[in-house]
Amino acid sequence: MKVVLSCMDYRLTEEVMKEIGDNVLVIRNAGANVNAVKETLKKLNPEEVIFMPHTDCAAMKLVKRVLSGEKVDSEVEDKLVSQFKGKDAEDLDRVNAELGEKLLKEVLPNAKVITNLVDVGRIKWPERKAVYYILKSSSSYDEDMLGGYILQAPSRDDLSADVKIAESLGLKLQKSEL
Ligand SMILES: [Zn+2]
Repeated sequence: MKVVLSCMDYRLTEEVMKEIGDNVLVIRNAGANVNAVKETLKKLNPEEVIFMPHTDCAAMKLVKRVLSGEKVDSEVEDKLVSQFKGKDAEDLDRVNAELGEKLLKEVLPNAKVITNLVDVGRIKWPERKAVYYILKSSSSYDEDMLGGYILQAPSRDDLSADVKIAESLGLKLQKSEL
């Protein structure tokens, strides 16, 4: 089985779709955050992980603000922000790709890990809709979802911090499968 791990960001949906196929599970959260789903990844034990963080990531902007003193929910601090303490706050998208890849190799020592830091300046994306979807890992997307943010995981527990982040971005829940 292959896992695609990417960000909820609406701009990445078509990039994720290129990786979907038979025996592929998708996990999308705020920032393609490996730390938040490491126990789930261990249980899934995939042979391959396509890890797709991206540039201009809103989750990394949130991390930067918190590192500069902004207060944030303790679960968001624990699952997302804490791993960036002491890191280069000016280059968090790259740091995120490096930290995530390192952690993936630690928690899944036998898996093939392919990291693709998506440069959003180089892709086309749909018009943004200020909504989010919560989908199962095995679900595919329909036309309506393009432009919305997509949270996706095996269980709702995997996404608890990410739902808080989505709400903090002013996104409204459109549909939940979990
Ligand atoms: Zn992002």
